[in-house]
Amino acid sequence: MADVRYPSVHAMPSDKPSQKYHASCHCQLVRYTVTLSPPLHDIESWVVECNCSICARNGYLNVYVQNDCIQFETVGLESELVEKYRFGKQRVQHYFCSRCGSSLMAESIEPGFYEGVKALNVRMFHDVDVRTLQRREVDGRSL
Ligand SMILES: [Zn+2]
Repeated sequence: MADVRYPSVHAMPSDKPSQKYHASCHCQLVRYTVTLSPPLHDIESWVVECNCSICARNGYLNVYVQNDCIQFETVGLESELVEKYRFGKQRVQHYFCSRCGSSLMAESIEPGFYEGVKALNVRMFHDVDVRTLQRREVDGRSL
């Protein structure tokens, strides 16, 4: 496994090119757009594949994005239609659709630890073939 403990975070504004993506859970109950700079297919861009107990089960492929890059179009994460899940040290909250079960995203709920950042599962993105994305492996199981 590559030693990538601290993934880069997409932020706005940026002097690099950007691209807007549409994303949703499988049943479309939760829809959002996100602007990534650089775009997913940029040579400098990559998604994180982690081997921790929850990423391994859900098949997460994550990009790390500042909150102001994300716009929710239907319901927000505070909605009761979005289920929340925490485990272990309880520092990260995971969100999934209450209807179709899609694993949407996760975020730290511990002040000072990745504050204002969400880990988005790019498998929710429309019109993105995840097989064509650069991946980096993170050894989350050991963290
Ligand atoms: Zn859904």
